[in-house]
Amino acid sequence: MSRVAIVTGGTRGIGQAISLALKEMGYTVAANYAGNEEKAKAFTEATGIATFKWDVGDHQACLDGCAAVAEALGPVDIVVNNAGITRDGVLAKMSFDDWNEVMRINLGGCFNMAKATFGGMRERGWGRFVNIGSINGQAGQYGQVNYAAAKSGIHGFTKALAQEGAKFGITVNAIAPGYIDTDMVAAVPAPVLEKIVAKIPVGRLGQAHEIARGVAFFCSDEGGFVTGSTLSINGGQHMY
Ligand code: NDP
Repeated sequence: MSRVAIVTGGTRGIGQAISLALKEMGYTVAANYAGNEEKAKAFTEATGIATFKWDVGDHQACLDGCAAVAEALGPVDIVVNNAGITRDGVLAKMSFDDWNEVMRINLGGCFNMAKATFGGMRERGWGRFVNIGSINGQAGQYGQVNYAAAKSGIHGFTKALAQEGAKFGITVNAIAPGYIDTDMVAAVPAPVLEKIVAKIPVGRLGQAHEIARGVAFFCSDEGGFVTGSTLSINGGQHMY
């Protein structure tokens, strides 16, 4: 039986490319989404990949959602925590709701998904988590104290959970994308985006499939000796 992978936010943007890459590897994929029914429907029709709607920031919804995936497709072996949002603004203008919502979804979602699936992977002696962080979690970004903190938290979460999973055959890794050509980046005002692209050594935005290739490696059997690591895929924008 093929391994089962959940990709949160897996119906569009980077998540869509990840869902497709994991399907190509022969995995059975469940693409989670938050509420964009139109995109989810079109995605299933085009790819045959099953979609499941829940809010990853809602703890009980994650437990129920993962149980529904297991019921429909089989025990969950792979989780890609990709769902994320931005609520940008300088600190002076950022509301508590903007702070909280970004922490709840981007970072809380990783905790919720791990709580729902880690135990089963441990029992079966094999598992993969890949958490999508961000260059802005590594380097910080003006107007993003919420997002940078949540993404930075993801990198810490990854290293801590990797230590817990190692002896059970569970690897936990992160990817820190640079600026990738998706709806999220399309929301950045054009003049700001031009300045960002000017700072990317390769001279362009990244493409979603370039992130998906990294995820695919982490999720493979061959990736079993790699855990607790962060792979930066950013066109050279931040090197360390
Ligand atoms: P998009 O905005 O294009 O897509 C976001 C996806 O997340 C959608 O599928 C959306 O579902 C889903 N989502 C949002 N909130 C929730 C929620 N509460 N529960 C479940 N799913 C949710 O994002 P990108 O593809 O650009 O980004 C994907 C990830 O990569 C994010 O974590 C982002 O922070 C990170 N990243 C992106 C970069 C970029 O340049 N694009 C750079 C660095 C990191 P729905 O379709 O239903 O709305």
